[in-house]
Amino acid sequence: MRLVLEHSGSDAVEAWLHDGGDELRCEAFRRADGSGDFTIVPCGADAGRTDPAGRGSCPDIGALCAAAQQGDPSRRAITCTVHGSVWVHDTLRFFSPDAFPVFTGTSGADRSDPGYLSLTLVPLRSGKEQMGLLVFKGRNKSSFDPARIEHLEAIAAKFELALLHQFSQAKLHERVKELTCLYGMAKTASDPAMPFEQKLMNVVMLLPPAWQYPSRASARIVVDGRAYQTPSFMQGAQKQAAPVVVRGKSRGVVEVHYSGQESFPGECPFLDEEQSLINSVAGQIAQMIEQREAEAMRAELQDQLARADRLAAIGQLAAGVAHELNEPLNTILGFSQLVQKMENLPAQALEDVGKITGASLHARNIIRELLVFARQAAPSRGRVDLNRMVEDELGLFESLCGKSGVELRRVLAPGLPEITANRSQMLQVISNLMVNALQAMPEGGTITLATSFDPSGVSLMVEDTGIGMSEEVKDNIFLPFFTTKDVDQGTGLGLAVVHGIVSSHGGRITVESEPGEGARFLLTFPHSQAAEQEEE
Ligand code: ADP
Repeated sequence: MRLVLEHSGSDAVEAWLHDGGDELRCEAFRRADGSGDFTIVPCGADAGRTDPAGRGSCPDIGALCAAAQQGDPSRRAITCTVHGSVWVHDTLRFFSPDAFPVFTGTSGADRSDPGYLSLTLVPLRSGKEQMGLLVFKGRNKSSFDPARIEHLEAIAAKFELALLHQFSQAKLHERVKELTCLYGMAKTASDPAMPFEQKLMNVVMLLPPAWQYPSRASARIVVDGRAYQTPSFMQGAQKQAAPVVVRGKSRGVVEVHYSGQESFPGECPFLDEEQSLINSVAGQIAQMIEQREAEAMRAELQDQLARADRLAAIGQLAAGVAHELNEPLNTILGFSQLVQKMENLPAQALEDVGKITGASLHARNIIRELLVFARQAAPSRGRVDLNRMVEDELGLFESLCGKSGVELRRVLAPGLPEITANRSQMLQVISNLMVNALQAMPEGGTITLATSFDPSGVSLMVEDTGIGMSEEVKDNIFLPFFTTKDVDQGTGLGLAVVHGIVSSHGGRITVESEPGEGARFLLTFPHSQAAEQEEE
């Protein structure tokens, strides 16, 4: 502006620029003593000078020109050039005293100053669009003539070029900052060794430098209620935000705030490009969350697979041992029963043989359970309604619960689909879980049996409010013969059998428990159709 003032030889120069929805105005003027001065005034903030004509929007030169030409020719004090500039020879004749003081008044507080008596308005264009206006002002009526106007138009053309260059530089600068942010983010996101929390901290630090006013910007990322923010984070009146959405569910937000009281040039300090940037940062964070969850799921699956593998190996071993023992055991049992039937056996011998038979029967039961665990027995299956089973077939447990001061609650999902299963095995599963739950609550408590279903299967939950389990116990409960109970209380086969049965039905079993917090077993079985197809 200073250069324009010097080279134009006028007394003051004003530039109006459209900036998005805002109008910016800058002004350079010469004092009477010849010293130059220079101010930039954002529209609306210019309270010092009143403007009855409606300050704030750049005048449309075309309309000004047309209006002047329609007026009384004798009062014509305006000329339009072929370039679309307007030259006002005598502002006092053309403008009423209070119209357009913006152009005609001087910037100083000197009230005796008569103001500018001639004006030249040259449009600034970018392609076909008018992006603003240069107003050259003269204190004399004869400040301008056609030759000077041509010179001013040439200056305006240079000014236009300089502006366009400036705009593209600014755009480029913003783009470089944006790309730096995105590059930093990609680098952070792809670092497999960096913990998730650290990644979010790194990303939040990348945000302020990418914004237009970095010194006033601070940023915050909130994920699942936890906030990660720049060290001097301050909520400001002006903020830009984008939600973090993972699989259609909002999980948090990314925000950039501007602090401080001073206003910004223009109404909205944020650029459209910055909104796109914050959106893409939020999108990348959503991807990071998704990836993290997928990895956790994969690890969990691998863990489950390893466990299943271990159990299958133990199952094979158990089945082998069970088969080997089954035969000699049957022989012992058969002969002991034969001996028992012999007449005239001494009482002592009869009693001893009775013990042999009893012990053999016990051993046979264990072997049967081992075979179930090893899924060697393939019993017949039919449709089973778990709701009805839980409702009608647990009479024995109702009285046991009553005696132990345990409340038995049932939460049954209406319309529960039937599953394809062996009814007595299902009963055994529920019984084993109920026995464990009862044993875990020597002081009483509550057992909840709940059913539910979704497209992935039909579930039964058995929950107690008992002593719960440590991590170590939880890791071993499905192993045969693992028990924490006294010899007469448990064999350590109950949950191994449950696992065997559930797996042989194509189902899954999971457990949630903390010491002192009770235990919750969740069994999920495939829908009948899926189970039958698989069997076929
Ligand atoms: P057992 O009951 O004969 O010990 P299980 O295989 O049924 O054998 O259970 C193995 C172990 O799992 C138990 O000894 C116990 O430590 C733990 N457990 C099972 N169910 C529960 C429960 N509901 N609450 C607390 N611990 C349990």
